Amino acid sequence: MKIAEVAVDCPTKQLNKVYHYLVPPHLSKILSYGARVIVPFGRQRMLGYVIDIKGQSEVENLKQIIDVLDADPLIGDDMIKLGKWMAHRYITNLAVCFNAMLPAGLKTNTIEKYVAGNSCTNEELKAFMSKPRTLGELAKKFNVSSDDVACYIKEKVLVKHKFFQQKSSKKYIDILSLNARSSKNQITKGAFRQHQLFEVLQNQGEVVYQKLPTELKRAANTLVEKGVVQRNKTQVFREPDSINIKEKVISDLTAHQKKAYEMISESLNKHKQDNFLLWGVTGSGKTEIYLRLAQKIITQNKQVIVLVPEISLTPLMVNRFKSRFKDDVAVLHSGLSQGEKLDQWQKINEGKVKVVVGARSAVFAPFKNLGLIIIDEEHENTYKQEENPKYNTVEVAKKRVKLLGGVLILGSATPALESIYKAQKGEYKLLKLPKRANSRPMPKIDVIDMKQELTEGNRSVFSRKLLNHINNSLDNNEQVVLFLNRRGFSTTTLCRKCGFTFKCPSCDLTLTSHDSGNYMVCHYCHYQIANPSKCPSCKSIHLAFNGIGTEKLQKKVQETFPHSRVLRMDVDTMSSKDSYNKVYQQFANGQVDILIGTQMIAKGFDFPNVTTVGIVIADMGLNIPDFRSAEKTFQLVTQVAGRAGRDEKEGKVILQTYSPEHYSIEHSSSYEYMDFYTKELKIREALNYPPFAHMIKFDIIASQEEKVRSEAEKVSFALKEILQNHKIKKSEILGPVMSPRYKLRNNYRWQVILKTKDLKQWLDVLNKANFPYKFSKGVRVSIDVDPLTTT
Ligand code: ADP
Ligand code: ZN
Ligand code: ZN
Repeated sequence: MKIAEVAVDCPTKQLNKVYHYLVPPHLSKILSYGARVIVPFGRQRMLGYVIDIKGQSEVENLKQIIDVLDADPLIGDDMIKLGKWMAHRYITNLAVCFNAMLPAGLKTNTIEKYVAGNSCTNEELKAFMSKPRTLGELAKKFNVSSDDVACYIKEKVLVKHKFFQQKSSKKYIDILSLNARSSKNQITKGAFRQHQLFEVLQNQGEVVYQKLPTELKRAANTLVEKGVVQRNKTQVFREPDSINIKEKVISDLTAHQKKAYEMISESLNKHKQDNFLLWGVTGSGKTEIYLRLAQKIITQNKQVIVLVPEISLTPLMVNRFKSRFKDDVAVLHSGLSQGEKLDQWQKINEGKVKVVVGARSAVFAPFKNLGLIIIDEEHENTYKQEENPKYNTVEVAKKRVKLLGGVLILGSATPALESIYKAQKGEYKLLKLPKRANSRPMPKIDVIDMKQELTEGNRSVFSRKLLNHINNSLDNNEQVVLFLNRRGFSTTTLCRKCGFTFKCPSCDLTLTSHDSGNYMVCHYCHYQIANPSKCPSCKSIHLAFNGIGTEKLQKKVQETFPHSRVLRMDVDTMSSKDSYNKVYQQFANGQVDILIGTQMIAKGFDFPNVTTVGIVIADMGLNIPDFRSAEKTFQLVTQVAGRAGRDEKEGKVILQTYSPEHYSIEHSSSYEYMDFYTKELKIREALNYPPFAHMIKFDIIASQEEKVRSEAEKVSFALKEILQNHKIKKSEILGPVMSPRYKLRNNYRWQVILKTKDLKQWLDVLNKANFPYKFSKGVRVSIDVDPLTTT
């Protein structure tokens, strides 16, 4: 019998451990690399990924593979290599990396877990699934949520009016109609609904049962019972909604665009592995270059992945790619339902599309002949995954194209400091688009010192200049965008008498008040309490709601400009799947005068009628104790400013700040990227921060305060020992210290930070030492390699 090497998906407490299993003859034919299998593991059954098949093994008494889940493997050869690289690079388990490559609908935490566990065998599952089952039945059988099983049901029920012409049904409908016409009030509600549905069916012929509101579902059930309408099941492809905004036709590229396009084309023509950094100001026409390169890739019979940082940006990019490439485009992002995601993923896997537009995880899109990966807004934080595997999409993409010999393009108006640094070192080829495609100038940014405003008697959140500009824009029927990077109503609530501040009991973070102070919530764990009327400590009723969030700003805007139409866009107002699309469309149609928002509106918005952009408090991010805070502030200001004056009308940006002299504010308001870069780079070098050193952050987490502390000492000690024993050069170990967010969800946290110029050696040693699992039970050591922040 052959031997399969399997990465088992279980908490083995062993990094990169793989297990050997015998392949029974009846499975031998269908088994190949990258297939998921069910294997016995201890007394359980577990899911695993086959990463190699061999003739023999040095291990004795091997057990047999129980079943093969995929006749066509889901993970290709190159993806197995990528997974191995990730596990090592991010010091995590191999199966966890493979899990990250597959859509949730296929993952172990759904039905397969139950097959893998002891509750049900594969045959039982097949038998159970051979009959049509409702969502509820499935969920109950497998003890999972309906959402988890929803993706397994690919049928939609169509209700058709096929039997309308039959005598008895016709009579039934006639009575309904007669009743409905004569006196809507007297007829029972049920009958009224049935008539409503009947009318819809007369117009449309059929409706999708699942999409009907509950009352109409009930009506449909009755009509089916009476034999009046027919219900069929049919296979459907679940296509996510998208917006539809007409795309401009662009005939000629600008000179800068052309140069960039030709440089990249050359690498594609020669099938040469290359990494490009496309540094183009907002509106310089980067997207147009992406579109044309995608076209080129398609004609070469290859495929392209286009990554965007956030769900909120995706509809626009999707819109532009779809209008160009129609059905050749798939989308993948966290805003899709599990079922939609699975269907999109399968379409890619089966080679039915050539372009994927998606967020972070789309970097794993299972194209068989991938030629190009484009990462738009490459500097964005969302490209870093915060859970295991804690990968950085840019790094993963770089590795993936390297394995394939493909091309990587990193695009940004404000590249990450590290990216510019790498470009200067020759790791990336730098391409610049210094001007807007329509040759409009970048809007002028006026910096307003809010301390000065206060001394001159203006206590409002609006400086006098911002007020003037908003009024002007409104008078001219132009639009205004106000940016504030903090949601909620007020950010701290404190007692004016004794100074008590309201904090989350499990996280020790201040609670943010929402809904005009109606309730307060912890933005970390969602702990929520009703608005307090008095101080729990001294019973005083004098509470102050300090700090402004987008909600309070909205209230103030409405008070100040009572005749304007105001809309807010932040996580709280974007609750449903299509709310972003709705707001976008409304703003595009001119139904909104003033749009207020968090970073959701900082990018991707391209509206010609926006003439005033207000940055309400620009320096909020500067107070965060983090080595990237200046860089992040610079990027955000530049991005937000880019929303103004994108077409013929001149735009103006009013930047309000309490620290106008800060170099980040100073250089961003004058668009002096290189000045900022030079200054920031010096600071990083002096403090030995990236890009001059790599960092590895160790978080030591447990529910007992004392234990965390002592264990953190051990982690630090163990690292120092490694440093000495292996004589690793150019490394420093900082800590242990209490984590800046010391208590989260009732867990206490300490951290140790390692800075090193020799990442490779550390990775080798830490992986070999099985480092994250070396410490006491009940304490978690979470490792983040090259974390984005130290907070
Ligand atoms: P970016 O992605 O760099 O922000 P876009 O590709 O969105 O820039 O282009 C900004 C605007 O300029 C869009 O409205 C686009 O239609 C337009 N545009 C892009 N390239 C050209 C061109 N060569 N000629 C005229 N307009 C262009
Ligand atoms: Zn008090
Ligand atoms: Zn909390």
